[in-house]
Order: sequence, then structure tokens, then C-alpha cells
Amino acid sequence: MGDCIFCKIARGEIPCRRVYEDDEVLAFHDINPVAPVHFMLIPKLHLASLADVKDVHAALLGRMLLLVSRLAKEQGLDNGFRTVINTGKGGGQEVFHLHIHVIGGGNIPPMVRRG
Ligand code: 5GP
Ligand code: ZN
Repeated sequence: MGDCIFCKIARGEIPCRRVYEDDEVLAFHDINPVAPVHFMLIPKLHLASLADVKDVHAALLGRMLLLVSRLAKEQGLDNGFRTVINTGKGGGQEVFHLHIHVIGGGNIPPMVRRG
């Protein structure tokens, strides 16, 4: 996808603060972090959102979840972390290239408050 910002980052056309890279995926720090540690893991393959994945992507998604856990620990998040996947306009997604946010450090409040 020529004009997708995360495809450009994956191709090295836009710089990023890289956390991890292999043939299939790239992890990099969010440019506008919401916590002391905030990075994203993306597939290099352009998939617009979680709503666009198919059965054929199951292995890739599984790898990504396993990697998230490993990379979070490597970034010092021994006490836990939050993962967020915003999906579609209704899910608050702004960049339409699938990404898993990994957020931690500091004080992460419960995500849903009741009462
Ligand atoms: P979304 O709202 O789509 O789930 O999240 C998009 C995220 O991408 C935002 O947290 C935003 O700060 C981050 N972002 C947008 N443009 C860039 C960029 O050029 N570089 C980096 N590192 N992060 C970006
Ligand atoms: Zn893309």
C-alpha cells in the first residue's frame, strides 16, 4: 500500500524507533506515547484492521501475540502490560494498518470503570 504510513515505516521510508523486526513483523515506539512504555507491533503485510483478517492470517496473528508478550518483558514490563487493538472508525482506529498497541509502566488504570 503506497501511501499507508505504517507500510512506509515497514519499508524504512519513514524513520521509527525500532523495538524488534523480522521478515514478517515490525515493532516500534509510538510517536505519541500514552505511558512510559508504548510501542506497536505491526505485520509487514498490509492488513487494514482486525476486521480484515482471514483464516490464512491465523499463524501470523498467533506469532504476533506470542511476540507481544516477549517484547513487553524485554521492554521492562515485568509487572504486566495493556494490549489494545483499535478496529475501524467505531473502534477509534486512526491508522488503517493493523497494529497491536503495547502499553505499560507507570499507573495503568482499569480500562472500564463502572458506577
Ligand atoms: P490507532 O488510533 O490507529 O490505534 O493508533 C495509531 C497510533 O499510531 C497512534 O497512537 C499514533 O500516535 C501512532 N502514530 C501515528 N503516526 C505515527 C508515526 O509516524 N510514527 C509512529 N511511531 N507512530 C505513529
Ligand atoms: Zn499499510
